[in-house]
Amino acid sequence: MKKITVYGELNLENNQINDVTFELISKAKKLAVEAKKLKQDINYQIEAVFIASYLVDDEIKKTYKSGADRVVLIKDSVFDIFYSTIYANAFLEYYKNNPADVILFPATLKGRSVAPRVTAQLDTGLVADCTEAEFIIKNEEILFAPTRPTFGSELMATILSKKAPFCATIRPNIFKKEFIYSDNGEFVEYIPASYYEERIKLVRSILDKNENTVDFSNANVVLCGGYGLYGDKSDEYFIKLKKLSKITDSKFGATRKVVDFNLVDSKYQIGQTGSNVEAKLYIAFGVSGAIQHIQGMKNSKTIVAINTDENAEIFKYSDYKIVADAKKVIDDLLNYFNIK
Ligand SMILES: Cc1cc2nc3c(=O)[nH]c(=O)nc-3n(C[C@H](O)[C@H](O)[C@H](O)COP(=O)(O)OP(=O)(O)OC[C@H]3O[C@@H](n4cnc5c(N)ncnc54)[C@H](O)[C@@H]3O)c2cc1C
Repeated sequence: MKKITVYGELNLENNQINDVTFELISKAKKLAVEAKKLKQDINYQIEAVFIASYLVDDEIKKTYKSGADRVVLIKDSVFDIFYSTIYANAFLEYYKNNPADVILFPATLKGRSVAPRVTAQLDTGLVADCTEAEFIIKNEEILFAPTRPTFGSELMATILSKKAPFCATIRPNIFKKEFIYSDNGEFVEYIPASYYEERIKLVRSILDKNENTVDFSNANVVLCGGYGLYGDKSDEYFIKLKKLSKITDSKFGATRKVVDFNLVDSKYQIGQTGSNVEAKLYIAFGVSGAIQHIQGMKNSKTIVAINTDENAEIFKYSDYKIVADAKKVIDDLLNYFNIK
């Protein structure tokens, strides 16, 4: 039996599993189904590995429901504090006796610091920040084929590693989390035999009041301002769009160009180097539709774009195309809501 292992991540405040872990498990399950279609005799087991002092039953059940066949808890109270080296070494110790063919890590702050430590020790490659993943057949062999944007260019690259395990980090909100499978599975507790000395010591931890981030994860409606709103060289229309988002209970977002021109704060940036959004409704005001922006919003359910250029790239990804002056649309909407 082959195996896809998902490196699971918990919120250490309450030991709740974070959304991206469920997204990766659901994707892994889909990959397993896809692999079987390509090669009848191939069966992938989906394993989720957590490093923590405990896991509550409800969270374990949710893990099975999202697609895991087996949940592993690498257990010790030392894991109540996150140290990347200790986490990586604990994972490696478990992995030595429980190898996998594919390992998926969340591309979060913590996942990104553990993944390269693990893959360097395993002497294998790591494809970072993937936006798609599939299995392909090459020379009658089944291969894991993750895709990621190439640096600085507008191309997407599918990267095949030469050596197993095939490892990738995947950003939050790229794949859908689904809780559609059985809530039963195999649960294993693994007590690590050894630890390695951590050279960094945690002196104090301070809660980030979240002022520097915007949580797009549960946004129903996102209003995104692009450089097209900057026509008269002021940030007037970005302020207006923010107002509109407040009264319509939606989230304000922006493109990188707008951020680079210091028109809005970088916390609002959507795209490959900003946040990912999976809104029910995403409205782009004066956004051209560069691939790096599309990466961060293409999974939204309904996409509406307002652009003066009827051939704008964004329209290729839109359910509704409005060829119009986005500033006028904003003014009309503010008038409609009677907002000055
Ligand atoms: C490595 C790398 C990473 C990147 N990451 C990101 C990222 O995370 N997010 C991101 O957004 N970008 C990212 N970019 C930048 C990206 O390539 C584009 O430059 C950027 O998305 C363009 O922003 P824009 O659509 O606002 O501006 P533009 O491309 O200038 O488009 C403005 C649009 O507004 C339209 N317009 C003009 N006037 C009006 C009007 N009055 N009403 C309606 N429409 C109007 C124009 O027709 C045009 O289509 C990245 C680039 C690189 C190289």
